[in-house]
Amino acid sequence: MIIMKFGGSSVADADRIKHVAEIIKLFVDKKPLVVTSAMGKTTDKLLHAVEQALVGNISIDEIKESHYAAAEKLNVDKSCIEPLLEELCRLLSGVSLIKELSLRTRDYLVSFGERLAVRIIAAYLSQTGIKAKAFDAWDIGFTSNSNFTDSEILDETYHRINDCLGNLGSDYAYTPLITGFIAKDVNGNITTLGRGGSDLTASVLGAALNVDEIQVWKDVDGILTTDPRIVSSAKPVKNVSFEEASELAYFGAKVLHPRSILPAMAKNIPVRVKNSYNPDHEGTLILSHIENDSELLRVLTFKKHVTLVDIVSTRMLGQYGFLAKVFQIFDEQEVSVDMLATSEVSISVTLDSKVRDMDSLRAELEKVARVTIKNQKTIVTMIGNVGHSSEIMAKTFEVLKQNAINVQMISQGASKVNISFIVDDSEAEKCIKALHKAFFENSQADF
Ligand code: ADP
Ligand code: ASP
Ligand code: MG
Repeated sequence: MIIMKFGGSSVADADRIKHVAEIIKLFVDKKPLVVTSAMGKTTDKLLHAVEQALVGNISIDEIKESHYAAAEKLNVDKSCIEPLLEELCRLLSGVSLIKELSLRTRDYLVSFGERLAVRIIAAYLSQTGIKAKAFDAWDIGFTSNSNFTDSEILDETYHRINDCLGNLGSDYAYTPLITGFIAKDVNGNITTLGRGGSDLTASVLGAALNVDEIQVWKDVDGILTTDPRIVSSAKPVKNVSFEEASELAYFGAKVLHPRSILPAMAKNIPVRVKNSYNPDHEGTLILSHIENDSELLRVLTFKKHVTLVDIVSTRMLGQYGFLAKVFQIFDEQEVSVDMLATSEVSISVTLDSKVRDMDSLRAELEKVARVTIKNQKTIVTMIGNVGHSSEIMAKTFEVLKQNAINVQMISQGASKVNISFIVDDSEAEKCIKALHKAFFENSQADF
């Protein structure tokens, strides 16, 4: 069995869905389980609709039209999505009445995108001769915690999926079409797994059923050397290790959801990133180990809008006490740290922009340290064979010097595949372009 996951751009309209059906047909012998995202930009449109409902405007016209248009063009009976569209409309009316939106309701609202998509696609596939059945992820066991908008999958999901679909391998009578991105918590509330969460759905499903391969179909020829929206000449990378893929997703490469690689990695299931607009291209294969690896760098990523916090001990505590206290404060304030550098009396960390209460964090830290908080920073991360770190660093510093880019903190992750440093947000693009040129565009680059 294999997993085939199609992102929003792959199922954006009727023509794209027809194309996806052709791709699925090529793999029917491998018994695919298909995961899909919402069609095109439906998730953004749902978020916009709910913002409008909050100020009294209830309209799902655009969402309705795009889904009805697709159904019509695919010759699919609209009755398979009508009840959902009515439910969505009632929900938006409720929001506009109470003029309040909890994160729980927000997740319920955005869940409609994926639920509409699987119903249309499954109906169309069945018509074209691929017998298919649509599932909302919770119907096959997807259970998460209640951290609405960024929920984590609970371990019990794995055996629940097996209870529901465990026999499918030997008794494969239909192609399951499963909603990406969504789950339910133990109280039955709908949750979402964070933006881009369909990648995670695919990986969890693949790990639970121990499939042969997880394919994620996107609109690019695989994982590229950097974000193509910054460097249009970025090139696809043939192979990436699980560890590298996990780090690049975590450190900002938008191509994969940050937590999506871990389930596949735990079961050693290869993940193939492919382009539904160019299916003949081999894409990127993510696997445990890369043979004959001579490349210095694999991918350059960046994460903008992070906060840099410098914490200098006031020496009220000894060194052990100081480090312990600082991390205890992060723990109590539920703040997670991306990058870290320490000396005997100081710690520098980066936090993402989602810290709930920066004032309270600062107040707690100031009980034991002098604290400086700097906003609008970017983490630039170089993913690759960091066994050659001195060569990479020498070249990097030369590029930064030539381009007069100021570096504010450097850290080499314990993962051995990641070197990260901080620059100002305003210099991030210049930095990525210059490094890409030096490392990927010309081995003798005149940077
Ligand atoms: P999907 O919706 O199919 O999951 P996404 O839009 O989430 O697709 O991810 C693909 C997009 O990620 C690409 O169109 C590209 O703009 C962006 N991207 C950012 N960094 C990279 C990278 N290093 N390699 C490939 N794509 C990247
Ligand atoms: N539809 C969701 C989003 O736009 C999930 C996904 O695309 O993976 O974030
Ligand atoms: Mg995505």
